[in-house]
Amino acid sequence: MYNFSEDQIAVRKMVKEFAEKYVRPQVKIRDKQAQYPGEITGILAEHGYKGANIPEQYGGAGLDPVSSVLLVNGISRVDSSLGHILEVNNYGFCEPILTFGTEEQKEKYLPEFTTGKSVGGFAYTEAGGSDPSNVNLTAREKDGGYVLNGSKIMVTNARYSDSMLVVGRTAKTENLFYGLTFFIVDMDKAGITVGKTEDTMGQRSIEMCEVSFENCIVEKDRVLGNVNEGFKVLMTLMNKMRISVSAMALGIAEAALEEAMKFANVPYRDGKPLYEIPSVKNYISEMVSHINIMKLLVYSAAESIKEDNPETRMKSLNTKLTVCEYAKDICDKALQIHGGCGFISDYDIERLYRDVRATTIFGLTSERAKSSIADMFIKRYLENGDI
Ligand SMILES: Cc1cc2nc3c(=O)[nH]c(=O)nc-3n(C[C@H](O)[C@H](O)[C@H](O)COP(=O)(O)OP(=O)(O)OC[C@H]3O[C@@H](n4cnc5c(N)ncnc54)[C@H](O)[C@@H]3O)c2cc1C
Repeated sequence: MYNFSEDQIAVRKMVKEFAEKYVRPQVKIRDKQAQYPGEITGILAEHGYKGANIPEQYGGAGLDPVSSVLLVNGISRVDSSLGHILEVNNYGFCEPILTFGTEEQKEKYLPEFTTGKSVGGFAYTEAGGSDPSNVNLTAREKDGGYVLNGSKIMVTNARYSDSMLVVGRTAKTENLFYGLTFFIVDMDKAGITVGKTEDTMGQRSIEMCEVSFENCIVEKDRVLGNVNEGFKVLMTLMNKMRISVSAMALGIAEAALEEAMKFANVPYRDGKPLYEIPSVKNYISEMVSHINIMKLLVYSAAESIKEDNPETRMKSLNTKLTVCEYAKDICDKALQIHGGCGFISDYDIERLYRDVRATTIFGLTSERAKSSIADMFIKRYLENGDI
């Protein structure tokens, strides 16, 4: 099992209390009505949970990496839409600015997105596949700035983001991984259109929308990192984001196990609880074993992944693939334990089953993770025979 420090145990307890008090009460209504939890993001900021991973000098809580993902985990256990909103702000927006931003960018953006109501977004995916080679939004240099043209799809927080990171193409060479550039874009700029809110099957409160840019002018000092070297920013960001997505998936799986136990623990036929039936017991043992493995993977990865190199990339991909696939399977088993009741929305497992489905897709699909893991492993094996 992972050994949490005393501080991490305290964070876990605090987040649990917070989630029960502020997040649980309206979670079903938000899911049914696909309502963005705007007022809770303000309360998150008051408690220092927005930008928990950002140092205090920029308004964050300066939590260690394990405590920071414990936060996403604890919130997601109750409402993974809110966990998702928080993780995009903390890891998809604030963390890259902290790592690659100029001092001026850090001072301008971080305090606002850690202590204020603002939430950040991350706009990367385009129609035709989420792949660096498929970034076609153009960013043309003009008059000391850049002109953005193109569209991003499935952008979380889109309607409520005051600023977002946008990945554009500044050069087109044979190597399509070169020529990407990150921009910090304020959403009140001329030429930006936020499309309709997508009607999603799960995580229904995340306000996922298409965002289009038409001759949108961004100043030169809003370039994040080096021009044409956005791939490095992307990989560094993704390494950490995949761990926080895994922490979210773990939270959903833990909630599913909790729901399964509540259901299996009431008197059933002959007054005996459902968990005494061997097949149910089997499911419980598989769920518990997998959750224990997931915890080890998530928290040890959070502790050790600091930069992008082949080793950390492999660890991040492994964690994302294993944890999210296990989480999906755990929700399936927990629903099965509920029998027909699992199919009814009065039971929380019905929502968890829908919510978990997103986790094997965003941040990188499981199939692409498998393909990258195999490529990296084969390369390493051919180089030094190391398995
Ligand atoms: C809830 C949710 C929130 C999201 N939020 C954001 C956001 O805030 N910002 C953002 O930019 N994006 C966001 N996305 C988009 C998300 O990152 C992409 O959906 C994801 O990366 C998959 O890309 P795609 O949808 O283009 O699918 P594709 O890449 O087109 O994949 C389609 C299918 O082909 C398979 N496939 C494609 N290429 C390969 C390959 N090389 N090897 C093996 N299999 C392959 C995939 O596994 C999949 O089964 C979000 C998505 C969801 C579901």
